[in-house]
Amino acid sequence: MANFDFVLFDADNTLFDFDLAEDTALRQVLTERGYPTDPATLERYLSINRALWARLDKGEVTQDFLVVERFAAFVRAMGGSDDPVQFNRDYLNYLAQGAFLLPGAEALCRALAPHCTLAIITNGVARAQRGRFARSPLADLIPHLFISEELGAAKPSPVFFEGVLRRLGNPPRERVLVVGDNLATDIRGALDCGLPAAWFNPGRLPNPTLWIPRWEAADYTQLEELVLGPASQIQKK
Ligand SMILES: [Mg+2]
Repeated sequence: MANFDFVLFDADNTLFDFDLAEDTALRQVLTERGYPTDPATLERYLSINRALWARLDKGEVTQDFLVVERFAAFVRAMGGSDDPVQFNRDYLNYLAQGAFLLPGAEALCRALAPHCTLAIITNGVARAQRGRFARSPLADLIPHLFISEELGAAKPSPVFFEGVLRRLGNPPRERVLVVGDNLATDIRGALDCGLPAAWFNPGRLPNPTLWIPRWEAADYTQLEELVLGPASQIQKK
C-alpha cells in the first residue's frame, strides 16, 4: 500500500515547464504584434508579470486585474498602443498550446497513478491551464484538475484547499500529500489546512520562510520513494 491515497501536484515548475511555455508564447505574441523579442524586452514583461503575481499571492490584486494590467504596463513601457485585453487573450491562446512537461514528470505520474489518485492544484489562468493539461500525456494519468479561477479562491487560501478536499470526498488529511515548488502558496496552503507537504526543490534552495514542509525532494525519484516507499520495497510487492 502506498503511503498516501491522494497526491495533489502543483502544475507549473512542479510537473510542467512553465518557463519554457511562457517564453515560447511570449515570443509568438510579441512577434505577431511587431515587438522585438530580445532579452531586454522579454525581461521587461517578465519583471512586470512577476511583480503582479507576487502581489496576487499576497492578496493585493485580483487575477482579472493582473492578466490585463501586465500587458497594459508593458505597452506603456514600450510606448505602444495595443489593447491590453486582446494582447492578453492572444498570449493565453499561445500559452494554452505550451504543454511542455519537465523531464521525468510523465514517468513519475505513470509510476504513482496505479497506487494513488492524482490531482493537479493550480493558480494559473483556467483557459491556459485546461489547454496545456489536455494536450499533455498527464491527461490520461491525472483524473482531477483543480484551478483557482474555477474554485473561487487561490492557493494558499484554506478556501481553495477545503474546496479541493470536499471534491475528493473529504479523505483523511494524513492520506493526502501536497507537492509543490512554491513555499508561499503550495506549502503554506497545505500547512494551514493540516495536510502533509513535500517541497519540490530541484535547485536545492534554502528555505528562508516560516513554512516548513515535512519533506523536501530534490528530484522525482525522491518523490516516488516518499509516496511508494524505497524502490526495493516496491519490487517486493
Ligand atoms: Mg509552481
